[in-house]
Amino acid sequence: MALSGIQIYKLLPQTNCKECGFPTCLAFAMKLAAKQVELGACPYVSEASKKQLAESAAPPIRLVTLKADGSEVKVGNEVVMYRHEKTFYNKPGLFLRVRASDPDLAKKVAQADAYKVNYVGMDFTLNGYAIEADGDLASAVKAVREVTKRPLILISNDAAALDSSLSLLAGETALIYAASESNYESLAEVAKKHKAVLAVKADTLDALADLTQKIQAKGAEDMVLDLGGKNLGDWLMRSTQVRRLALKNFRPLGYPVIFFAAQNGVEKEAVYAAHAIAKYAGFVVIDTFAPEMIYPLLVLRENLYTDPQKPIQVQPGVYEINSPKPESPVLVTTNFSITYFAVANEVEGSGLPAWLVVTDAEGMSVLTAWAAGKFDAERIAKAIKGFNVADKVSRKRLVLPGHVAVLSGEVEEELPGWEVRVGPREAVDLPAFMKQALN
Ligand code: SF4
Repeated sequence: MALSGIQIYKLLPQTNCKECGFPTCLAFAMKLAAKQVELGACPYVSEASKKQLAESAAPPIRLVTLKADGSEVKVGNEVVMYRHEKTFYNKPGLFLRVRASDPDLAKKVAQADAYKVNYVGMDFTLNGYAIEADGDLASAVKAVREVTKRPLILISNDAAALDSSLSLLAGETALIYAASESNYESLAEVAKKHKAVLAVKADTLDALADLTQKIQAKGAEDMVLDLGGKNLGDWLMRSTQVRRLALKNFRPLGYPVIFFAAQNGVEKEAVYAAHAIAKYAGFVVIDTFAPEMIYPLLVLRENLYTDPQKPIQVQPGVYEINSPKPESPVLVTTNFSITYFAVANEVEGSGLPAWLVVTDAEGMSVLTAWAAGKFDAERIAKAIKGFNVADKVSRKRLVLPGHVAVLSGEVEEELPGWEVRVGPREAVDLPAFMKQALN
């Protein structure tokens, strides 16, 4: 069980030397209990105390990493039930299941592997492939490895086939699916030999907890759980129970979860996958490669796995849109990603050239930043001067967002020689404004 702050404090040197960055050992102990610092920050903990504290310091859900040449997927290490309590850290890996018997296997993987979509400045892709051994697994692994460098899940009950296939993936960390009561000994041996992650499945959570302990006793440490369940509701209930138990430091279920979204027919696959992403899956395996299905899943995942206290941001600076010339206007906005892309996309789509100055507003949108004092005349002037915008233009025309029209007088005072114009409130109205008011 996790130790309380006071219990941890009793195991610390209690000298209040401050080397850990905290004023007292008690303050450090409280942070350690909340899993906000690492034990290694105190250089004076005795070996005996370290051993006792190891359990308390370990994450409640084991961090599991799948690796291949060039990419990796980390899942687990989560510390809360709900995102608003802190944040979710490691996004679930989205894997496409393919079949070893498929004559078009390599072609399908190559096509899926080329999928890349940009969302507010970030590139999204699939994370890897799950190969179902309904044919020669080793040949399928070879064929897939020729067209992708992403991590793999190997689906087979045959320990010998898994052994020979994993030998082809030297230096990688793959996931093998799945150990059950009937085959766990042989699969645990294979996982241990190849340092692979082992998926474990059982009909009930009690049976699953028993099985993970038996597998751990065999020396295989990295596991993920297949929770089973008769339907999605049953699975969601189990997934929630497992997260709750893991956060209470119930170690036998303190592992990430794998979910097959097409297990009940592909027609509800997207809905099932969305539920699994929202409710604690570490790996989500889909059967359908369809960009129109994958894109919303990736956006959902991104939005759930961002820190709610840190808005997504773009780098402050001067962005050139449609090859601006010295006489082109200067538009100003904040560095909240969605605000930036709303403005940039409208201007780019209009074909009109402009300099877009993005100020550091700590990732807030225009109105929020203005209300919070992060987007005022002083900051706008500082950005214009700091980015040497005057050196790029021959006509000093600055366009403020319509929502902060109230700032125009102050900006004029801060930036003598600049003509300050008030633009529209909404980005969608920018092209018309630029055509009519700036020519
Ligand atoms: S470094 Fe260790 S001994 Fe020093 S104050 Fe921090 S916890 Fe206490």
